Amino acid sequence: MANKRVLVKFSGEALAGEAGHGIDTKILKYIAQEIKSLVDAGIEVGIVIGGGNIIRGVTAAQDGIIKRTSGDYMGMLATVINGVAMQEACEHAGLQVRMQTAIKMEQIAEPYINRRAVRHLEKGRVVIFAAGTGNPFFTTDTAATLRAVEIGAEVIIKATKVDGVYDKDPEKFRDAIKLSELTYEQALKDHIKVMDDTSIALAKDNKLPIIVCDMSKKGNLLDILNGNRENCSIVQ
Ligand code: UDP
Repeated sequence: MANKRVLVKFSGEALAGEAGHGIDTKILKYIAQEIKSLVDAGIEVGIVIGGGNIIRGVTAAQDGIIKRTSGDYMGMLATVINGVAMQEACEHAGLQVRMQTAIKMEQIAEPYINRRAVRHLEKGRVVIFAAGTGNPFFTTDTAATLRAVEIGAEVIIKATKVDGVYDKDPEKFRDAIKLSELTYEQALKDHIKVMDDTSIALAKDNKLPIIVCDMSKKGNLLDILNGNRENCSIVQ
């Protein structure tokens, strides 16, 4: 096993399923099983989930009634809602799991404490990091990269709807070419945009490889971590 500790990032939208919003328990169950396959293989797993299926700060603030900072806090709270749901699904799948939040809400989850998170991981518990970075004007991609670096993950996996990074939008251009390996500089280019600039810069500074893969392909996460790089792209 090449990667012993990983951070997996799912977008909030991934949880929405066909409805396009809210939380689809079938998807939660599927993700929990995918995570379980990693834990069963001895991999320590941290998870960050976005909040886009519920609300995003930019969208909440678009007509000027809700301030951007308030919208962002609403977005961070949305990640906690998703985190609670993911925690339940992981437990349902038989996993041990703890959630930690970047904004204290101790009736719901532990506060984020790095050393405690690492201890949970060492004990084989899945750790869900919720409430983003705790700061407005950031994204959960940045939160995921930050936590990945903090817990010493060997890699961050961005689990998406596509099987990797393309030189142009594969949904618009039939001749789009998949880039199986790219540099952080390439990943920062506008037409590629694997993640937002802040998260890529953080990954680059800390030499954290980013894997982009299709989360809907069963067994993909484990396969990739076992070294099969066919169904993904890697930024390093
Ligand atoms: N957010 C924030 N700070 C953070 C992380 C998230 O303010 O550190 C807010 C922001 O408004 C964002 C929302 O939470 O739009 C949901 O996160 P994101 O858009 O990254 O979710 P995803 O697109 O992955 O579902």
